[in-house]
Amino acid sequence: MRIATFTHAGTRHVGQVSADGQQVTPFQLTPDEARRGALTLVEVLSAGGVLPPLAGQPLPLESVRLEAPIPLPRRNLWCVGRNYHAHAKELAASVFKNNAANPQEWPIVFTKVPECVVGPTDPVSLPGPAVSEQIDYEAELAVVIGRGGKNIRRDDAMGHVFGYTIVNDVTARDVQMRHQQWDMGKSFDTFCPMGPWLVTADELDGTRTRVRCWVNGELRQDGPTENMIFDIPTLIETVSRGITLYPGDVIATGTPAGVGMGFSPPRYILPGDVIRIEIDGIGSIENRFA
Ligand code: MG
Repeated sequence: MRIATFTHAGTRHVGQVSADGQQVTPFQLTPDEARRGALTLVEVLSAGGVLPPLAGQPLPLESVRLEAPIPLPRRNLWCVGRNYHAHAKELAASVFKNNAANPQEWPIVFTKVPECVVGPTDPVSLPGPAVSEQIDYEAELAVVIGRGGKNIRRDDAMGHVFGYTIVNDVTARDVQMRHQQWDMGKSFDTFCPMGPWLVTADELDGTRTRVRCWVNGELRQDGPTENMIFDIPTLIETVSRGITLYPGDVIATGTPAGVGMGFSPPRYILPGDVIRIEIDGIGSIENRFA
């Protein structure tokens, strides 16, 4: 099932996307439930509840505005740094070459604040040269946790996955480097486009899909998720060590090779650039930077 959060006639709804991807039918939810987007359904279903009934006629997708499936995650998004072999290699000559974390032993984990999430076609705001001139894109598969838990074992981890979506882990490289910790350079307003919807785990195997990213139509990133250094079960085991995961928690699993910083000279995002990310089995998001 594909679950979309969308606005129609000025009101936010959560709906089920049709098999052909052309229509979306709203679920019957209270305004408060709909305000939280697909997070409401993730919580209900993960607690053993049933789907609310569909309400009304299917709407053509082009008649609605898709929003991030979880417009405001309940807390920071977990993110994983340098998690594809080819991407780790492209950064080996960069300023990150002396990064203290040992990528062979433990994943690099940081977070983005929930308020930076925007929708799959929303504009992303470049912060201006006084703040950063090194804005970069990172196409990523995001795991959405269903049933929560703590100290989740690797072998049980996939049972805690509700589904998947796409994120662009937009990054201000100069700020990321300046502060040692990455959170600031990753959390600017609008720096987490997400969407176009959630695909439930019964419809997609996130461990075997393909992440691609185009900048103004030029293919820059193309990586199979099989090339992750730390696979999805390991990431869930890692972030749940001593920390309780909750339904709706998001884990961005890292980006393949081909980010702007990996080029020599770097190719950072310019005003007017359009970044499109596509993941097989999910769909695509496309955001203009202004
Ligand atoms: Mg990233």
